[in-house]
Amino acid sequence: MIEKMAKDREDEYFARQEFERRKKLAIEHEATMKKKELEALKKLHWMCCPKDGMELVEIEFMGVQVDKCTHCGGIFLDAGELDQLFDKAKNQGRVFAKILGAFR
Ligand SMILES: [Zn+2]
Repeated sequence: MIEKMAKDREDEYFARQEFERRKKLAIEHEATMKKKELEALKKLHWMCCPKDGMELVEIEFMGVQVDKCTHCGGIFLDAGELDQLFDKAKNQGRVFAKILGAFR
């Protein structure tokens, strides 16, 4: 059990490092793109599912506006929304049931 928890923490550590590496590359790539290109990309992808490209609609979940795909049902959070949900769930208890309920 303790070994599995240590392995999970190690996996999370490497996943965070990989995320930071990719984020740095994305920032470098973004810096080389022109403002107009960035605006065109945003317009093209705004409120589209990152998995299948279909339309996302905003739904309210525990008082937070989250984006749900009309095709695959995937739920996507903007920056800071996961923290808002955790704060609300912490105050109301039954954290996992509430969080998992969003994925039904
Ligand atoms: Zn989708």
